[in-house]
Parts: sequence; C-alpha cells; structure tokens
Amino acid sequence: MGKGFDGARAAEVAAELRETFRSGRTRSLHWRAAQLKALARMIDENEADIAAALYHDLAKPPTESFLHEVPDAPSLKILFALDFTGKGSMPVCSKEIETLDETAEDFTGKGSMPVGSKEIETSYFYYNFSIIRKIVPEPFGVVLVISAWNFPFISLAKEACLFALKKLKRWMKPRKVPTSITTFPSSAKIVPEPFGVVLVISAWNFPFLLSIDPVIGAIAAGNTVVLKPSEVATATSSFLAKNLPQYVDNSCIRVVEGSIPEASALLEQKWDKIFYTGSARVGRIVMAAAVKHLTPLVLELGGKCPVLVDSNVDIKVVAKRIVVGKWGCNSGQACIAPDYIITTKAFAPKLVDALKITLEKFYGKNPLGSTDLSRIVNSSHFTRLKNLLDEEKVSGTIVHGGQEDEKHLKIAPTLLLDVPSDASIMKEEIFGPLLPIITVDDLEHSFDVINSKPKPLAAYLFTKDHKLEKKFVKTVSAGGMLINDAILQVTFPSKIAEVTSLEYLLQFKFCASICMCESLILGTQFTNPHLPFGGVGESGMGSYHGRFSFDAFSHKKAVLSRGFSGEIPMRYPPYTPLKQKV
Ligand code: NAD
Repeated sequence: MGKGFDGARAAEVAAELRETFRSGRTRSLHWRAAQLKALARMIDENEADIAAALYHDLAKPPTESFLHEVPDAPSLKILFALDFTGKGSMPVCSKEIETLDETAEDFTGKGSMPVGSKEIETSYFYYNFSIIRKIVPEPFGVVLVISAWNFPFISLAKEACLFALKKLKRWMKPRKVPTSITTFPSSAKIVPEPFGVVLVISAWNFPFLLSIDPVIGAIAAGNTVVLKPSEVATATSSFLAKNLPQYVDNSCIRVVEGSIPEASALLEQKWDKIFYTGSARVGRIVMAAAVKHLTPLVLELGGKCPVLVDSNVDIKVVAKRIVVGKWGCNSGQACIAPDYIITTKAFAPKLVDALKITLEKFYGKNPLGSTDLSRIVNSSHFTRLKNLLDEEKVSGTIVHGGQEDEKHLKIAPTLLLDVPSDASIMKEEIFGPLLPIITVDDLEHSFDVINSKPKPLAAYLFTKDHKLEKKFVKTVSAGGMLINDAILQVTFPSKIAEVTSLEYLLQFKFCASICMCESLILGTQFTNPHLPFGGVGESGMGSYHGRFSFDAFSHKKAVLSRGFSGEIPMRYPPYTPLKQKV
C-alpha cells in the first residue's frame, strides 16, 4: 500500500481494521503470540535483507545494524571475551572455538565447566546463562565467549518480540488491587484492554527498529495496527511493506508506505491510539490531528541531549564512551545522541585532546573514508548540517574535523569548542556528527543552563562525585538519564562490539578490559525492560519498551466488583439530620 493512497483508502483501511478488532480476534493470547512469533520469524528469515536495506538507507555499518536493529552478521561468530578476573592478561588462545551442544543452563551454578574433555577451574561470572553458547576450551581463568546470534543486545527488535512473548500471559492478566473499607465487601482489579485500532508513524534513523518495536507493543496489547514507516528510509520502508504481510495477519496489521500526503490521509481517520516517532515539529501536527478525535497518543520526539563531564573522571574511558555514543550510532543521527558537551574551562582542553585521540583511533586519519561511520541520510539533511558547520567555520570554533564529502553525504566527526549560546547549532537539535563543547566555571551551575532549555530526551553526566550525581538526577529534568556512559540506556555501542572475531580477540591477547566488562553489565540496562523509554516536555510524552510498550497500547480498565451485602444506609437519601451527624 502506498501510491494512490488517499483519504478514502485510509478510511477503508481503518474501517476494515476496526471491523476485525470488533470481531474480537486480536484479543486472544493465541492470536497475539502467533503474531509475535511471526514477527520474530520474519526478522530471523530476512536478516540479510534487513541489513542490506539499512545499508542502503544510511550506509549503516553492518555491526551497527546488527547491534541496533537485526541480528544478522555472519562475520560475528563471537562477540565478547571478557576477563572477569581483572588481571588483564591471559594466554592467547590458539585453539579453535568448540561449540557445545549442552544448553547453557546446564552450567548454571557449577564451579567448573566441562568443555570437551577438559575442565576449566573457574569461579566464573555469568550474566545470563541462556546467552552463553560457546566456551573457549583453554584455562584462561575466567573467559566468557558469547556468540553473537544469541546475544540479547544484538537484535533489539527480535529481543523485544521474544520478551513480549515470554511475558505476554502475565501482562494480560487482570491485576488484583486492594479494596477500601467504603466498598466492603468488594474485589478490585485492573483489567488491561486493547485500545482498538492504532496508528504507528515512525522515523528514518532506526527505520526497522522504530517501526517494529511499537508494532510489537500494539500487537501484544491486542490491537489492530497500521504502520506508516518513514519515506526517507526507502529500502527499509519497502522491505516492511513487502514482507510484513507475508508473515502477519493482514486483516489486523497493515503497512502503508508514503510521505506527508499518505500520513495526512491516515491522520484524518479516527484512531484509538497514535504512536508517533519523529520531530517535535511534526509531532505538533500529529497531536493536532489527534485532538479532533480525542485520540490519546505517544510522542517519541528528540531534542538536544546534554553531556556533562566532570574533571575527576577517567578521561580515556569517557572519551571512548562519548565518541561511540555520538558517532557509533548513525553518525550522531540518533534521538539520544550526545548533542553538546558541558565541561569546565580548565578541563575542556584535556577532554578535547582525549576525544581527538579516540576519534582517530576509531575512525582513522581519514574518517570520511571510514566504513565504520554511517553517512548522512539524504542531501537535505546534509545541507542542513553543512549550514551549521559553515556558520561555525566563520566563527572559528572548530577544533577537530570539519571535512565534508557532499558526493557521498559524509561529514567527518567534528568537535567545536566554546560555541556561543546564540549560535544556530546551540538552538536546534543537531542530529548529525557535529559536537559542540561549551565551557563553564562550575559544572553544577550548568544544571540551570540545561533546565532553561526545552527538556531533553536524555541527559548524561560523567563524574565520580556521588553528590553531584545525586543533585543532577534530582535537579535536571529529562526523558531519561545515564551516568558515566552515553546512549547505552537504549542501544549498544558498536565500538565495544568491535570484538567481532577470534582474530580480533587474539590481537587483544584476551586482555578484554574491565571497561568492557563494566559496559557489558551496564548494557544489561538495555535489555532491562523495566526502564521506560520516552521523553518529557518537548522531547515527547508517554513511553515504551518491555512492559511499558504493552501499557502504552492498553487501557487500564478499573473494575470494582461487589455483592449484594454490606449496605450502608447513610449513602441513601433522604439525608436525615441523624445521617448527617454520623
Ligand atoms: P519527521 O518528523 O520528519 O518524520 C517522522 C514521520 O512523520 C515520518 O514517517 C514522516 O513521513 C511523517 N511526517 C513528516 N511530515 C509529516 C506531516 N506534515 N504530517 C504527517 N506526517 C508527517 O522525523 P524524522 O526526520 O523522520 O526523524 C528525526 C526526528 O525524530 C529527530 O527529531 C529525532 O530526535 C526524532 N526521533 C525520536 C526518537 C525517539 O524514540 N524519541 C527516535 C528517532 C528519532
């Protein structure tokens, strides 16, 4: 569906889906589970095509596609080897990795692991044994090798499907709540019910994930759903239009391709919930359309995400995390990408140096030629970013990068120092590979700077000062926060996953650092679906991920149930003086 899709056709689609919804078909656990399984199967069976579509749309490095959207990456036989001993030096493995047939759970709680004929004496760490598929048959001490295809961060979309499948029954159950003396005797429960017919409009920067993830929530909650992917990510949009109907129930789930006319035609219809991901500008249009039918909505918007860097930090780690958080996710074209840094005047030069070194280490001396950096999505975004860059070229704030390649829509990672607050780059969401650094005398005072701006989707702080951290969490308002890392609350940075092959591990001599180890543990936050993802103020309203996705697409019906005893005469007129006294 796409070309020639007008208001009449949109009305037809909405009516068809409403009819199906009214039939009650989508309400059963069986139907919901079948659709979720079908979605997971679609991802499994089309990994290469999805990765190719993402590459077409954004020149997204395969590792990034793999980590952020789909699980396929044939080269990623092994993702991590972690040294949990902290000794940092281990013998080089010269043996082939041995695949174990036993299920990983078999090892839970054991003090030693049988691997082939050997035993590894170890007090090993395990995060989640269901993810361990391969173990290196050498007594490295404590080495954990996790094969990529089964790693929980790797396919956010598939992982969301599987998580919903696992939890669905529990989520659907009415939740008993206490009753009060005034209703005695009674029982009370909250019954989740699907809204009905929902519309999902998604953005281009994670075009697969941002389309599928809300659809998972909509289906899990028992709705029928229309998905309108972004026309900017053309290949992913047509992949979804072509493939989704082959897997899921078409009388309940539809894909409508198109741009403003098609989105407008859809928005004219009455929906029971709208889930929109994109800019605040269009968010306002969507909200205005929703008002007409009093349709509730979730707005997943963007904004300028600040990164505060204290001077007491481990600067090398900070630089790596900022670089991968900014450039390792679509070259900064991510809603929670660091948008600007605030640090102290005294610390800024050191931070700039560390960032420069890390950038060069990650992307080489000629970052425009790096295959580890996505390109800018299209020429209009390239021009928008170039205009910001040109303004800064005149102001002389560029301290690193600044090169551009219009033909290939590439802009080098660029650092800008002491950008004035009235510069365009400090007024709008950058959504690209430029990173301004502003300096202050005292970091704590920058809380006011952040709070004086529209509320960001994410705010980051790097510090060892727990008091400052506490104050930051308490004082600064943002959709979400991450302390001592960037972007990891939602997605997994690709540089950590650079350990993509045994050769690479060998190169490291298994000195996987504690930093990696920490990052893995931090990374569990992503698959920790107990954290909602969403904005506040200008960065959006409502949230999703995990249980929050189910909730976003469910009405929580309050049901109070009484019998016929427990009459209280005082309730009923006439309100005699005696009753009033009581
Ligand atoms: P966008 O607002 O231009 O487009 C988003 C969707 O809205 C697309 O499907 C598009 O077809 C549709 N659309 C565009 N104009 C429309 C109109 N006039 N009427 C109806 N529909 C219209 O956003 P984008 O450029 O795709 O995405 C970038 C923005 O999205 C950034 O601001 C970013 O921060 C934000 N974003 C937020 C999240 C999040 O989860 N909070 C995720 C990704 C991107």
